[in-house]
Amino acid sequence: MKAILKTSRSRGASYRDAQTPVIAKDELLIRVTAASISPSDLAIHNHAGPGFATPTLPFAFGQEFCGEVVEIGSLAKGFDKGDFVSVESHIFCGVCGQCRNDQRHICQNLRVIGRDVPGGLAEYAAVPARCAWKHTDDSLKDIGAIMGPFGSSVHAVLSEDLVGRSVLISGVAPQGLFAAAIAKAGGAKRVIALDSSDYRRKLALKMGADVAMDSSAADCVGRIHKACGQEGVDAVIEMSGGAKAIALGLKALRPGGRFVAFGLPVENLNLDYAGDIVKRGIRLEGVAGREIFRSWYKMESLLKSGAVDPRPAVTHTFAFKDFKKAFALINSKDKRCGKVILKP
Ligand SMILES: [Zn+2]
Repeated sequence: MKAILKTSRSRGASYRDAQTPVIAKDELLIRVTAASISPSDLAIHNHAGPGFATPTLPFAFGQEFCGEVVEIGSLAKGFDKGDFVSVESHIFCGVCGQCRNDQRHICQNLRVIGRDVPGGLAEYAAVPARCAWKHTDDSLKDIGAIMGPFGSSVHAVLSEDLVGRSVLISGVAPQGLFAAAIAKAGGAKRVIALDSSDYRRKLALKMGADVAMDSSAADCVGRIHKACGQEGVDAVIEMSGGAKAIALGLKALRPGGRFVAFGLPVENLNLDYAGDIVKRGIRLEGVAGREIFRSWYKMESLLKSGAVDPRPAVTHTFAFKDFKKAFALINSKDKRCGKVILKP
């Protein structure tokens, strides 16, 4: 098969021949029909740090993908050849304390498809059957690759009731764009999007945000307070991971508000922990991935009912062989893209 491979411990990747995966008894072989580029894929491609080095070389990365089941292991139940599936990239063990408490997404023994084991930027991928989500019809086939990241935004936004609330979405890269649409569908009275990219701010408005603000402009906190019509937003969904944005988000929040920490900072944070969090009674909630499979049921319902349409956030599609153009676009300074999809 052909795959987009990490072949060295340096920036970049190669599109070349690779061994077609051989499935284990509990796995499915998926013929990949589409993959979207995740922030982790980007970090692995860019060789952003020791945390993003793949375990072996060459290595097919790619965490977000969908495709057709073409082979079924003898212990993999519930699937037929030809089934269309999206992939949950988190391989949970099923026996640790978190798994047994319905928190499989933060499993103690978590492995990630496309990071710890080969992934979906390849014509074929082997995935444990318990990580496959079977589509019952073709209505979501065109967005099958983005189910995982969309589910993370569903989990981040809807873990608490937002009806009548004002919400700041800090960072409207694809996760934030999805979050804006989900917050609106969830009944938020005011959704404010914050980003330095003009292109992405326009996309956020298209996705349902009521207001889109430039995070690099002066007095963001004052303008956010004015836009939400009260002394701070009820909830901040922090998707950017930027140190400045995190500090700003905490200041923009009203006392007693909810701060959802999703974006991963790469620099050290310098926060007024006592003043901004403790004394103001802020509820801080870390969100990693999505609930397996509770978030998937929620997103299927949101998507099939038409309550949320993530399609405007998908702005570009490239062939696998043109993967360099796709990564260059996401790496570009002005970020003139939403979600980017690659197809074999
Ligand atoms: Zn576990």
